[in-house]
Amino acid sequence: MWTYQHQRFRVYQIPVLRDNYVYIIEDCHSEVVLVVDPSLAEPIIQSCNKLNITPTHIINTHHHWDHTDGNLELVQHFHCEVVGNMADAQRIPGISMAMDVPSQPSLTLGALELRILDVPGHTLGHIAYVIDDALFCGDTLFGAGCGRLFEGTPTQMWSSLQQLAALDDATQVYCAHEYTLPNLRFARNVDAENTILKQRIHTDTVSRRQKQPTIPSSIALEKQTNPFLRPLDAEFCAAYNQQSAATEQHLQPLDIFTELRQRKNKW
Ligand SMILES: [Zn+2]
Repeated sequence: MWTYQHQRFRVYQIPVLRDNYVYIIEDCHSEVVLVVDPSLAEPIIQSCNKLNITPTHIINTHHHWDHTDGNLELVQHFHCEVVGNMADAQRIPGISMAMDVPSQPSLTLGALELRILDVPGHTLGHIAYVIDDALFCGDTLFGAGCGRLFEGTPTQMWSSLQQLAALDDATQVYCAHEYTLPNLRFARNVDAENTILKQRIHTDTVSRRQKQPTIPSSIALEKQTNPFLRPLDAEFCAAYNQQSAATEQHLQPLDIFTELRQRKNKW
């Protein structure tokens, strides 16, 4: 477990299953404790006991089992509420605070103000939570990657990623999987001249060798190195179009994103 101190809260990062991260957010000014996307209950119960804290809420980003399978057992154990997208009320076990997204864009729990972003793409009901300078984005944005489009369209995902990219550069990206190194290998393939990317590959490779997480990253770093955000950069798009000049058509950012996502699926 790793701990990150923010100004008004603390984040505990717990690795579970093969490569999932569950986060526990402890409000420093109230009794509120949030569990983000519990894949399992047991490791969360153990961590909470060790930390001597009691979850008051589970906050789910989407309905997939590796984000919600711990819900019911945690509710039984801690009597906590379950927050999720109303649109997925049938698919999120134990949901008790169904948010009408996007017309209910925020939620105050204890001293914490949660901004809720509607980010369809990976699933149609996927949402993300922003608390001050921390983003909990589930399977939408990953370290140097983005989620697969299981339910949404490329247009939806591109719009969702743009919403996340518009957050403050210093925002810490707490995503739900440790996929960064394989994602970086794909990134290097499509963005070979990017020196910040080369630096990141070095730093994150060392972190993983030392059994440290590469997450959280930051919005600034993702904008500079994540191939699925790079179409926001005009120079990247120009270079990309030059490389694929054989097709003789000028691809727009959405087209480049769509093509990159398809290439990554087959990679
Ligand atoms: Zn998922």
